[in-house]
Amino acid sequence: MQQFQHYIDGAFAEGARQFESLDPANGQPWARMPEASVADVDRAVAAADAAFLAPDWAGMTATARGKLLYRLADLIAEHAGRLAEFETRDTGKIIRETSAQIAYVADFYRYYAGLADKIEGAHLPIDKPDMEVWLRREPIGVVAAIVPWNSQLFLSAVKIGPALAAGCTVVLKASEDGPAPMLEFARIFDQAGFPKGVLNVITGGPEVGARLSSHPKVAHVAFTGGPETARHILRNSAENLASTSLELGGKSPFIVFEDADLDSAANAQVSGIFAATGQSCVAGSRLVVQASVKEAFLARLKAKAEAVVIGPPDAMDTEVGPLCTAGQRDAITDLTNRAIVQGARCVTGGAPLEGPGYYFPPTILDCSDARAADSLVEEFFGPVLSVVSFETEAEAIAIANDTRYGLASGLFTQNLTRAHRMIRAIRAGIVWVNTYRAVSPIAPFGGHGLSGHGREGGLQAALDYTKIKSVWLRTSDEPIPDPFVMR
Ligand code: NAD
Repeated sequence: MQQFQHYIDGAFAEGARQFESLDPANGQPWARMPEASVADVDRAVAAADAAFLAPDWAGMTATARGKLLYRLADLIAEHAGRLAEFETRDTGKIIRETSAQIAYVADFYRYYAGLADKIEGAHLPIDKPDMEVWLRREPIGVVAAIVPWNSQLFLSAVKIGPALAAGCTVVLKASEDGPAPMLEFARIFDQAGFPKGVLNVITGGPEVGARLSSHPKVAHVAFTGGPETARHILRNSAENLASTSLELGGKSPFIVFEDADLDSAANAQVSGIFAATGQSCVAGSRLVVQASVKEAFLARLKAKAEAVVIGPPDAMDTEVGPLCTAGQRDAITDLTNRAIVQGARCVTGGAPLEGPGYYFPPTILDCSDARAADSLVEEFFGPVLSVVSFETEAEAIAIANDTRYGLASGLFTQNLTRAHRMIRAIRAGIVWVNTYRAVSPIAPFGGHGLSGHGREGGLQAALDYTKIKSVWLRTSDEPIPDPFVMR
């Protein structure tokens, strides 16, 4: 079995404790992972804290930080094939997607490399003649980055990239499910030439995450995961009063009007719910379709769902691979069964596949006559689409917004004025119009409600890793006047 290592203070180690990682395609152990102890977490944070203050990082110009990030991006591009193979092997995410996504991850680092020396302070036109006042934008400190199993290289890039661009240091906790790509990433990072301790990569479960997010030396927690864990993160951050950014789940509406290009919308819906085996926070998991085209649209979707190639994640023609864990497969099975008991009609799929591996087929549940079904409310995080129909635009808006989440949404219509009305009315952090599941380092990404707070991607994300220092400089040589009056 392959042995992976932690990366703490610029050194690799197997750690005192280890656990086996299972291959989701067959359920067999394939690698041994280091499991961080509380002492390992403390060492990693201490290393990040020391690196934050050390002159070789704290004194480095922003331009030089950017150059290191460019070098990291080039190394990621150079080793993208290997990173993709590890992500596919350890998480079950299909090689078609991991190869494409990791090549694009390099561009996320390039975006933040370019941004490093464009994070500017400001000069204030202060209302006192003998004062110069300006604002310095300084790095916020040690960042705890915590990611879930799906798309770890991507979800960590939108944390590590802006954090390092801003001058912070990072302790990244990979998910205990499928950590191989992040531990391999650490090897690549190590070649880029950053000072030791600037990035530390560990893995482990809730105990490790809890220690990391509550650590007194952590200034910011950048978290991606589920809402229940986010509540723990907020409670943990009551210890250190760290700021938080929370990228959580979704139950995103995918709205199809009768005037939409149904073929194009059906392709987007397949991408929105079956790609990545539905393990996507932005999954368009609630199809909200106009009643007049519901049957025509469902017929297209059913045909596409049943034609999907299910297979081993490392085969280039596979379109839907296994879920990451047996627990995830079982949770999806339970929620599907509950929906059917609650009155949902199973259009296709509906039960896990027999045989080894954690496979669940593309599934469509028509909940038009089961509007109270849990499947319209709860996130599956799997390839299960819940369908509900509407008659009027107002009804479409009401259904779309009838969720405690607010991450993504899709809107399919050829009617320009309607599109604008809907864009305004939909409560979500992203509205995709006549497209779905498009991302870019340039565009902010995030939600509200149970989908969390803060934005990743774009300029604002880099600013969120800074804090403002106000500097007051008195220009007068005269003695300070009346010391008992505030200036
Ligand atoms: P999860 O919340 O169970 O775990 C996420 C991470 O938190 C893991 O690394 C885990 O070890 C860690 N963790 C667990 N307990 C902790 C604790 N008490 N303190 C600190 N850390 C702790 O999520 P998951 O089930 O692995 O991933 C699926 C969830 O992630 C879904 O809800 C999905 O929608 C969400 N997600 C969101 C986005 C986004 O950008 N909005 C992207 C991908 C996934």
